[in-house]
Amino acid sequence: LLSSDSDPDFPYPSYPRNLTTPQFILDLPTHPLRPSRLPSSPWFIDDPTGRSYSLEEVRARVERLARAVRDRWALKAGDVVCLHSVNCLVIWALHRIGCIITPANPAYTVGELAYQLKETGAKLIFTGETGLDVVLKAVEQAGLFGREGVALFSPPPPEPQENGEGCFPTPGTPEPQQTPHGPFPTVQSLILAGHLLHPNYCEPSGRHVGDTVAFLGFSSGTTGLPKAVELPHRAVIAVVLQMARHYKANQPGMGEAETEGRWLRPDDRVLAVVPFYHIMGLVAIMHALLFAGAAVVVVPEFHREQFLETVVKRRITHLAIVPPIVMLLVNSPLTKQYDLSRLHWVVMGAAPLSSSMLEQFRALLPRAKLGLAYGLTETSTLVSLFDMHRPPLPGSSGVIAPDTEVRIVKPDGSSAPLGEAGEIWARGPQMALGYLNSEEATRETFLPGGWVRTGDEGYLGPDGSLFVVDRLKEMIKVKGFQVAPAELEGHLLLHPYVQDVGVIGVPNEYKGEVPLAFVVLHERIAKRASSSADEENNIKQELGKWVSEQKVEYKRLEGGIEFVETIPKNSSGKILRRMLRNQAKEVVRTR
Ligand code: AMP
Repeated sequence: LLSSDSDPDFPYPSYPRNLTTPQFILDLPTHPLRPSRLPSSPWFIDDPTGRSYSLEEVRARVERLARAVRDRWALKAGDVVCLHSVNCLVIWALHRIGCIITPANPAYTVGELAYQLKETGAKLIFTGETGLDVVLKAVEQAGLFGREGVALFSPPPPEPQENGEGCFPTPGTPEPQQTPHGPFPTVQSLILAGHLLHPNYCEPSGRHVGDTVAFLGFSSGTTGLPKAVELPHRAVIAVVLQMARHYKANQPGMGEAETEGRWLRPDDRVLAVVPFYHIMGLVAIMHALLFAGAAVVVVPEFHREQFLETVVKRRITHLAIVPPIVMLLVNSPLTKQYDLSRLHWVVMGAAPLSSSMLEQFRALLPRAKLGLAYGLTETSTLVSLFDMHRPPLPGSSGVIAPDTEVRIVKPDGSSAPLGEAGEIWARGPQMALGYLNSEEATRETFLPGGWVRTGDEGYLGPDGSLFVVDRLKEMIKVKGFQVAPAELEGHLLLHPYVQDVGVIGVPNEYKGEVPLAFVVLHERIAKRASSSADEENNIKQELGKWVSEQKVEYKRLEGGIEFVETIPKNSSGKILRRMLRNQAKEVVRTR
């Protein structure tokens, strides 16, 4: 299992480098950190229908799907497939044939999705029927492939009939799904087709197969437009093992008698409420918690009441959520009406959460172990994680994950002593390889020696706790989602009214931050804007609409639009964002 070579490129011999994620998750039933499960125990539970899938069933479906996809589209190793909304069976089937997955937010607009398709050079896309309209337009705009490269996620199949061969759907003629846009193959029809096919692909293998890219997540990194982050199989596997090691999952002697102290106990279930297209859902839930023994309960999307009902009905014990969900739960009188006492472990991350909010949440769940985690797409989601066995220091984002090093770097490049703030650098087996097609950005973030610059400011506490105090990079985080100022600036500059623009984030109680645009209008429009308050508002509305019609909801200029005469820049034309932030404080104060 373990790679024995001591390669300076990956000096982590206790983390496998010779496996892909499905080989690690699906094909290794015995691993010291993995619990033994009954063959019939559920791996996935579909919340709307209650239908559950055992490991055997997941593996069989993955295999059939892999054969059918290979047969139909002749994809080869290294081809990129976009998942517009994410489904684990599809991911693992595509990994089996060596494809790379780029997960996309199903709420994206045509332009945003086309950008992702073009940036990654995708060859195929899977979507739900509700997303079909946007997908077909994005596929046309990207111009990389036609509608023959579109497949649908199908609704879960009816309960399988016991046929003496195990609980699998009986093979039949695969029917494409009829939609208002015509017929499309579905995951279910492909699985049925795959049942009739002989093995037709070679699974990637080799000592360094784990170095190949598994996922292309998107992040704007420290600056610029969203870029595709290359996450290799070995990094995803590393996070799975690091989380299991951090919590000493399933290790003999670790609280065996005392189940309360254990991270995962038999029959524990995690609710997949953080979407799988976000790296936290994809890696921490779908891979790490599943591996460590939890059944994953899949819900289509987050609704507060539905969420509380599902937690009770499906006997949820584990949660990974983002700060806005914590705020909703704390502020809602409904929360107290539900018996949430089964919740055992709750991790929060993807954005800052105030200590007071965390304490109020803790008061709602006195029996649960809860705390923060910190990480970024570039670190496959993990840098630090709260310790279940000692209460986290107030304000901390947990302690450094196993086999991970953190350096706090001062502006002069020297390391800051304990307690002093600087930029957080991290290294470990979970780091991404770099940004696809972006050598310069890769060089700036992925440094020699394996260090990754996070663009976040923080300090280390005396017990190894990490405190994240600010974001030095441009990125804005709205409800845990990334918004790249450069993307909104580029889009606003396309508007005929706009001569120059600078976008920054301003604090928002529920969403964390929201974007605010400082805009320099062309002279003629500026005159119009200054002629009356109504004119000024009309122009602001027009620009707001320009963004809201072409960008996903969380990128809207909810922080407002301010007309200014110049955007502060340095001699090489770089926006001085700190100055804009100070200006914004003044704007917010006087509103
Ligand atoms: P993403 O790549 O979308 O996961 O975004 C990563 C960024 O989210 C980090 O660089 C931080 O700026 C922010 N972030 C994640 N976790 C935390 C946390 N616990 N506290 C503060 N900010 C966080």
